[in-house]
Amino acid sequence: MLRRRFLEFLAAVTSFPLGHCAIAAALPKPAAVPGGIAVVKLGSDPTAPIARFGGNRVLVVGEETEWLAVVGIPLEAKAGSKLPLAIERAGREPSTVKFAIGRKQYATQRLTVKPGQVELSPEDLARYEVERAHLSQMRKTFTEAAPESLLLVQPCEGLRSNTFGQRRFFNGQSRNPHNGMDIPAPEGAPIFAAGEAEVIDVGDYFFSGNTVTLDHGQGFLTLYAHMSAVEVAVGDRVATGARIGRVGATGRVTGPHLHFSVFLNSVAVDPALFLGNAEEK
Ligand SMILES: [Zn+2]
Repeated sequence: MLRRRFLEFLAAVTSFPLGHCAIAAALPKPAAVPGGIAVVKLGSDPTAPIARFGGNRVLVVGEETEWLAVVGIPLEAKAGSKLPLAIERAGREPSTVKFAIGRKQYATQRLTVKPGQVELSPEDLARYEVERAHLSQMRKTFTEAAPESLLLVQPCEGLRSNTFGQRRFFNGQSRNPHNGMDIPAPEGAPIFAAGEAEVIDVGDYFFSGNTVTLDHGQGFLTLYAHMSAVEVAVGDRVATGARIGRVGATGRVTGPHLHFSVFLNSVAVDPALFLGNAEEK
């Protein structure tokens, strides 16, 4: 089942035009860019190897003849560099496989807002620091069960904005790049689980407002932000397409929309890579 789904996933991502996608048409040759995905061959040992990238466990799937690591590549990764994947195989010495990072240009967005929206008050800053530590710990979640699918369904109706990876300058000050996809939708529109998963975090955070995080297995997580209502609790299991809440404008936003992030090995990657090639704007 997983193998079939994985092959469907590869077929879906390789059908993107080049430059849209981490895995170019050259598959099974690995190809990767910052914010994208590298597929690294790990050989055909009888049991699945364990792979780590930057200290974090990496998703490993069995293809027809061999194991493949599906690695999330950080937006900060340097184009032209070679990054190491640490491999542990049963009964063998640990080893390292290197994979090359290709080039991808992301747009820059310059925004002018009220000064108070860029410089946080000491209270807001203290709150943000606590939340950041919690969210970064939560992102490291790795459960052994393999995801039911590496393909996701679009979590709410609307046109997908192609803003993942955009560098943002607020009043001339550099801020973290945008780590997800925004889908504008009316307040109250339903939000659905993008895949079968367990709810691992629900919170109301300074920047992302009411936020739900789902664990699909092996470090494959999805996050839904700015919700007006949350309709699940930590520990719930949800099916693909199950309603988890409503679109809103909580946190620091200018209007109602769903912010949707996808994580692999604790790294935010472009959600468009998982959604097939429907109606991308
Ligand atoms: Zn967003």
